[in-house]
Amino acid sequence: MSQRPVVRTDDGIEKIAEILTPAPVITGGKLSLVGFGRAALHEKLAEIGVPAREQNMRVNQLWHWIYHRGAASFDAMLNVSKTLRATLDDAFTLDRPEIVSEQISKDGTRKWLIRMPPMGAHDKGAEIETVYIPESDRGTLCISSQVGCTLTCSFCHTGTQRLVRNLTAAEIVAQVMIARDRLGDWPGATRPTDGLVPDADRAVSNIVLMGMGEPLYNFDGVRYAMATVMDGDGLSLSRRRITLSTSGVVPMIPRAGDEIGSMIAISLHAVRDDLRNELVPLNRKYPIRDLLDACRAYPGLSNARRITFEYVMLDGVNDSLSDARELIRLLKGIPAKINLIPFNPWPGTKYKCSSWDRIEEFSDAVFRAGYASPVRTPRGRDILAACGQLKSETEKLRARARLMLEEGIGADGVYAVGAGED
Ligand code: SAH
Ligand code: SF4
Repeated sequence: MSQRPVVRTDDGIEKIAEILTPAPVITGGKLSLVGFGRAALHEKLAEIGVPAREQNMRVNQLWHWIYHRGAASFDAMLNVSKTLRATLDDAFTLDRPEIVSEQISKDGTRKWLIRMPPMGAHDKGAEIETVYIPESDRGTLCISSQVGCTLTCSFCHTGTQRLVRNLTAAEIVAQVMIARDRLGDWPGATRPTDGLVPDADRAVSNIVLMGMGEPLYNFDGVRYAMATVMDGDGLSLSRRRITLSTSGVVPMIPRAGDEIGSMIAISLHAVRDDLRNELVPLNRKYPIRDLLDACRAYPGLSNARRITFEYVMLDGVNDSLSDARELIRLLKGIPAKINLIPFNPWPGTKYKCSSWDRIEEFSDAVFRAGYASPVRTPRGRDILAACGQLKSETEKLRARARLMLEEGIGADGVYAVGAGED
């Protein structure tokens, strides 16, 4: 039995021990610098003997090659002296975590299953999913902040996966690097020719922290990672093009505004505490009223910088017109957009998606009250890449192995597929 870094708090909600180690993608004993922030690069250069007076310049050079150009080896860094390139190459790599699989939906959505290198002797290497959603004029990358999720929202597939751990800042940034590699989204690189990548300046123009995990339970990891992603000399995505989605970790919401500064989305999903307690169990700790108070006080909130409220449409559960009216009443005075998400089913769920007519009625009611109320088109459902469908392949293999054991079928072969033990 392996140990999980998880403790159960008295309200039944699991919380993991923070893991803030910055990076380690290690190949052949060498550490990858991909995902490192500026301070960490300084440290690493000092370790290999780069004199302090040179470090700023060298960090700027590395930064440009890694995050602006997407270099995958030190050889490419032509303005760095040959000797230093050789020293860097002896000590470090620019490897990305391993892509286990890439799936492309018929609507162009791409999903990568990514294996992070083991963090220690007991870690088999965590797997996470990253999804790319192309539209005609933009491309949104949906990234994960944790392996699985400690919260257990009843309609979310990720919530059924036991948490393994927080992703490090470097592992969060690496998802952006991998997507840009695969989409030919670096200066001079070639875009895939299957016609499913937008013909925009940048294939990845927006980022949403809406993959696996609760980003505000990995606050430091997400904050460091977003600082790297927003840096204007590198990946250079503006904070207005980054949206962090939270299930409502109230005490961290003001810090997210002050210290991360991205746009924020709140997974509301219900207008009454009794129902929200069931759908989003974190509501027992931070009820709707506290959540909305935190939204009203969100730093920088204005009509130009609205909060998005996400509302999953569950047939017969939260989709009545009186729910819509109550939603309007609750959000009064908050500059808001309401994003209606058709429920994406997954194997074993007890919920059904509301009918299209009902979603339209609900959306009309909200729209008539003066709120933008776009319905999120489900994308990538055929490859289980839509909201709330993410759950790593390891977990599915493990579940299959368990089933086979229960049915008395030998499962040795299945466990051998890197599934680890639990
Ligand atoms: N943990 C964060 C971010 C990840 S989930 C959060 O909960 O906000 C991203 C969004 O997808 C959330 O609004 C979540 O409630 C929603 N979601 C989860 N499962 C879903 C499903 N099966 N169908 C549609 N939306 C879902
Ligand atoms: Fe976690 Fe978000 Fe899924 Fe809830 S909806 S279980 S917070 S990933």
